[in-house]
Amino acid sequence: MLPYGRQSINEDDIAAVAEVLRGDWLTTGPAVTAFEEAIAAYTGATKAVSCTSGTAALHIAYAAAGVGPGDKVVTTPMTFVATASCALALGAEVSFADIDLETGLVDPAALEAAVTQDTKVVAAVDYAGQPADMDRINEIAHRVGALTVEDAAHSIGSADRGRKVGTLADLTTFSFFPTKNMTTAEGGAVATMDAELGRRAHQFHFIGLERDRARMRYPDEGPWHQEVHEWGLNYRLPDVLAALGLSQLKRLDEFKARRQQVFARYQEGLAGIDGLALPVQRPDTDAIWHLYPLRVLDGRRREVFDALRAGGIGVQVNYLPVYWHPLFEDLGIKRGSCPNAEQYYSEEISLPMFYGLTDDQVDQVIDGVRTAVGA
Ligand SMILES: *Cc1c(COP(=O)(O)O)cnc(C)c1O
Repeated sequence: MLPYGRQSINEDDIAAVAEVLRGDWLTTGPAVTAFEEAIAAYTGATKAVSCTSGTAALHIAYAAAGVGPGDKVVTTPMTFVATASCALALGAEVSFADIDLETGLVDPAALEAAVTQDTKVVAAVDYAGQPADMDRINEIAHRVGALTVEDAAHSIGSADRGRKVGTLADLTTFSFFPTKNMTTAEGGAVATMDAELGRRAHQFHFIGLERDRARMRYPDEGPWHQEVHEWGLNYRLPDVLAALGLSQLKRLDEFKARRQQVFARYQEGLAGIDGLALPVQRPDTDAIWHLYPLRVLDGRRREVFDALRAGGIGVQVNYLPVYWHPLFEDLGIKRGSCPNAEQYYSEEISLPMFYGLTDDQVDQVIDGVRTAVGA
């Protein structure tokens, strides 16, 4: 079965990991520092904190933003469940704003209608790899005193008018799961332009430990002393995996170029076919394309999905509207509340999209889709 996504690991990646295994530090050593500095340098963010997953990164970002009981977090339903569930984990109430049907990105007008004075965070998702309209979303959030979190699990490497993802929101989260644009096996990161948010993010992922004497309540306790003022978790990325991340980050522009070629080949090969709607790119964005989200119209998604799978093409569906998960249904969020997201979900198929995909494989997928829809 041709997978819909997969990692690319080369000999340099393997050598980087082996070198750390032979050294003194398995975790929280020089590779972590170097990886975090490299993420900051690549994206232009002032601070990056690496962590154990994209889910952990979201938990860290919400904690750094100060999300807690009584706060509201507004987000998009067209995402992986963690974007919303990590806000619940901190005691917040989550609500959803509908998406734009062409891009799959949250619709700023719907966000504007959903934010209130209780909103602590507006969380956007760079669905499929293209950056959400953070300029407008920042404006909407900041007007009510909320911060923005950009879930960039799909979009490390993307840019909006020359500004890289990682610099566009108050807090940006990345995932380095194997199907994502680059990998550390499991892993993630939080990036920010704000030193205080960066400090809070670092502390939350480090069990809440305070090691800065100037900030301690009992600074004269002794040289061994560290203290906790706000609880945190151990979300530290091991050095072994940071070394893989550092090596993968050097390859990211190459990954991006190939993903863009695959995207262009799909766009050309699937253009003008009745019953399909192709992804639409926001103007002035440079997207890495983590997914190729094809919409199959006229109620034929399941039929086309099954035909492609039967033909050995490992398609996926991204995503079930988050509030259709029983967790959110049981909190009282009704089906029908974001009609565009529900329609998008009912039509969407993610075609294979990864660095190692060959032109022949892309053409095989295009032929498979053409045959399935009878074009
Ligand atoms: C993959 C993903 C996550 C979670 O990342 P993990 O590293 O798998 O925990 C969060 N949000 C989105 C949009 C994702 O695609």
